[in-house]
Amino acid sequence: MTDETWGLVRNELLESVGVNNFKAWIDPIVFHTTEERIAHFFVPTNFFGTWVSQNFGDLILRHLISAGVKVDRVQFSSNSAAMAEKSLGAAPHSPMQAPILEEKPAADLSDDDLPGSKLNPLYTFDNFVVGKPNELAHAAARRVAEGGPVSFNPLFLYGGVGLGKTHLMHAIAWELRENRPDLRIHYLSAEQFMYRFVRALREKDTISFKQMFRSVDVLMVDDVQFIAGKNSTQEEFFHTFNALVEMGKQIIISGDRAPVDMEDLDNRIASRLQCGLVVDLHPTDYELRLGVLQAKMDTQRQRYPQIKMATGVLEFIAHRVSSNVRVLEGALTRLCAFADLIGAEITLDLAQECLSDILRATGRKVTMDEIIKKSCEYYKLRQSDMMSPNRTRTIARPRQMAMYLCKKYTTRSLPEIGRKFGGRDHTTILHGVRKIEELIGKDNQIAEDAELLRRLLEA
Ligand code: ADP
Ligand code: MG
Repeated sequence: MTDETWGLVRNELLESVGVNNFKAWIDPIVFHTTEERIAHFFVPTNFFGTWVSQNFGDLILRHLISAGVKVDRVQFSSNSAAMAEKSLGAAPHSPMQAPILEEKPAADLSDDDLPGSKLNPLYTFDNFVVGKPNELAHAAARRVAEGGPVSFNPLFLYGGVGLGKTHLMHAIAWELRENRPDLRIHYLSAEQFMYRFVRALREKDTISFKQMFRSVDVLMVDDVQFIAGKNSTQEEFFHTFNALVEMGKQIIISGDRAPVDMEDLDNRIASRLQCGLVVDLHPTDYELRLGVLQAKMDTQRQRYPQIKMATGVLEFIAHRVSSNVRVLEGALTRLCAFADLIGAEITLDLAQECLSDILRATGRKVTMDEIIKKSCEYYKLRQSDMMSPNRTRTIARPRQMAMYLCKKYTTRSLPEIGRKFGGRDHTTILHGVRKIEELIGKDNQIAEDAELLRRLLEA
């Protein structure tokens, strides 16, 4: 691999992991060599290496592979000399590696060179597996991608991490390019929107910023939650949004939760978002996970034609790996690369050994956030109600249920749970937990709720 390729991969990684993670974990890595299908990198310390390897190893590997680098593994070793050189700004920094956060000023860009993000060639409708949890979102995305008259504006896609929001947005963009080559399509993350806006302010060039964003036919903004609470960016976004809607241009936005649940999001934006079509991607279920695994396995077989897999392995992974498709994909990629490396058939034992860190331990760790989210979904409540002081039975009971689940399925203390639930006192939490325990014994409905929620949390 050349430094140049690594420069490109770094750009993609920046998009995948976000600026903060990028600065903390990816930027310090120095590419060394590729040898025997292993990409070697230098990192500042052993600890750093272990962390990066565990948290970003698969991701880096995947990006390398999709950039055409022939590797099966990535390896990180600490090398203070190389790091010192890097911090001095000397080699091995190539010009391609350095200016990753810099972009050309908007004014320099020609029409077909809108400064959006690159679209991932793999994120197409063909590669998107449809199942119950995402069928609505998929259908809506398909409709928008036809490029007919704007029927719902904006289209707002939301859902948890790794459920396919970005994939669907890229798929829309690819398809629109095909169907309507005349349209100017602009895809970017809310984070990039902010950086570009801040730069326009700094360079006192907000006019071209405005012109640029108002000249597109389709605007796609990914991860809008990023600008929640960032007031002047939100303000600008709101105006861009209105201007485009008024001109009848299509807007497509994604977020990690429903507009009403984004606490710091400007109310005007939230209500604008609500006016269009709001569809969510639900956490995957077993069937969808299996479908995704089967599809990804077909791709893996093209890379490793000789690979053998025992029956039941995909089912096992679908059963045991969490709902996030990115994690699922990572698991399969690693498993195939590993099996290929040691030249063995993929059996259940091998899968268990190779994926031990990913496979959910029997008592999977659930977080309070998940519990609150699932409980709100289950009882059809807003998170804001769950946290509010409102003591109406229809809200208070679900709230107590969520407190009970937090106590039972996490290791959080009562005061910690109290803080999570809008700063309640630990005695209130204790009361709630006891109440549910008592009701489970005598109220069938409550017992059933507790059981269903437990299963939802395990799913
Ligand atoms: P999000 O933006 O919601 O966090 P992404 O769109 O980045 O999630 O998806 C994470 C990974 O999972 C991507 O590699 C994507 O291709 C894959 N993925 C997600 N959903 C599906 C699906 N239904 N079919 C195939 N791949 C999927
Ligand atoms: Mg995304």
